Amino acid sequence: MIPGVPAAPSGVRTKIMLNRRPISAGLERPEPSELQWLCRSVLDGAFADFRGAAIDAAFYPYIGLTHTIRRTGRGWRVRLSDHCRHAPRPVLEAIIQILGCKVLRRRPRQEALRLYDRFRRDPAVEQAVRARRLQKGRKNLGGDGGRHHPLGDIYRELNGAYFNDQVEVARIGWGLRRSRRRLGHYDPVHHTITLSPVLDAAGVPRIAVRYIVYHEMLHAVFESGPPGRRRRHHTAEFRRAEEAFPHYEDAKKFLGEYCRKLR
Ligand SMILES: [Zn+2]
Repeated sequence: MIPGVPAAPSGVRTKIMLNRRPISAGLERPEPSELQWLCRSVLDGAFADFRGAAIDAAFYPYIGLTHTIRRTGRGWRVRLSDHCRHAPRPVLEAIIQILGCKVLRRRPRQEALRLYDRFRRDPAVEQAVRARRLQKGRKNLGGDGGRHHPLGDIYRELNGAYFNDQVEVARIGWGLRRSRRRLGHYDPVHHTITLSPVLDAAGVPRIAVRYIVYHEMLHAVFESGPPGRRRRHHTAEFRRAEEAFPHYEDAKKFLGEYCRKLR
């Protein structure tokens, strides 16, 4: 200590240090644990419902700027698009708030919506999202696939209409094998949905493709529990959810006949 210069009280100094760390330079590269910490503090601070619940938060390589929150056995699972890895801390806080509001069916604060919207429209962010879409799209196209039915659009539309945008899939695309037996497949390890390219034909109505995508999205919902447990794929609950799909009967009927003709 320099004589004559009053020292800052140590408590204040410590506090400044603690506050500074996560804010520093807009959280340049938040580690998962840092995101975890941020989620915890935003959710705990804003919503009583989250207090004391386990929160598992991480960035996730979604194709678009997608963020999700979902109940797990013991708490909540939060996944933020890894396009936000470099987002300033207030933006991350806004996203977490919006997710919390969404799951509790509350209206998010205008400030949070405004902040997030500005981030979303940032040309650099838009460019990164576009680039990833293109790259994933190219990887997905097997042969002449993707001519008639844009799976990404169908997936996004279904996610909004029936799943409250809560389905988490890292990739959806046409497969390479023209399988007639297996029209769709959800891979729970890689979180991917693949459709057989036999369905990407002019003669296949959109409802049939939507039905298969819907079915695979249900698998994504029902098979998202803790890994390693053996589970039945088409439980009674799954079937009930499946039958709720509009045009369920028509789609099944068409696909049955279509596949018979292909054989
Ligand atoms: Zn199935």
